[in-house]
Amino acid sequence: MSSFPEKLADRFRRFHHRHFLPKAEEYEELAAYGQNPEAMVISCSDSRVDPETIFSAMPGELFVVRNVANLVPPYETGGKFHGVSSAIEFAVLNLRVKHLIVMGHSGCGGVKAALDQSAAIQTDAQFISRWMSMLDDARRRVLAADQNASHSERLSALEKEGVKTSIQHLRTFPFIIDAENKGRLSLHGAYFDIASGTLSVLNHSRNEFFPL
Ligand SMILES: [Zn+2]
Repeated sequence: MSSFPEKLADRFRRFHHRHFLPKAEEYEELAAYGQNPEAMVISCSDSRVDPETIFSAMPGELFVVRNVANLVPPYETGGKFHGVSSAIEFAVLNLRVKHLIVMGHSGCGGVKAALDQSAAIQTDAQFISRWMSMLDDARRRVLAADQNASHSERLSALEKEGVKTSIQHLRTFPFIIDAENKGRLSLHGAYFDIASGTLSVLNHSRNEFFPL
């Protein structure tokens, strides 16, 4: 049996000493009373775009789902296991989060695979091609929008279109439409540029991202 990575064990000890022990009472309260986060973030699994780090979040503040390319599938009840939809349902109906944020990022490998249609070639992919096919329509829009755009411009455009697509998919869930209509839930799009450390936020009325 392989041993637990020593580096991570060391990092855990560091966390326990530097972060857990000074906040032991807060953790105790969180354990006793449960979580009450105001926001849910749906972000990419990419190791460079950790929402808790980007939003300086404390334990109990953010309810997070991460997956390849921060995608939300459209509402459907067929199939068997809906990890993303379950988390959204729990966050909106049980935790009653006030804000739901889809956060994309620059240099997204999943979006690049969608743009290049390369997911099936990269690996013996059983899952990723179908997952990324959620961006097929967005990809066609990006390719049609500017014939002279460079690959990196198209990638950036599709990363942002992907956030918009996920927000559109969120609005196919009846309980999200209901919560939005009642004014107790706001949907947001965000885009983190890794190189510059810039966070841009989607302006819904102009359908564009603007830096904070
Ligand atoms: Zn990504």
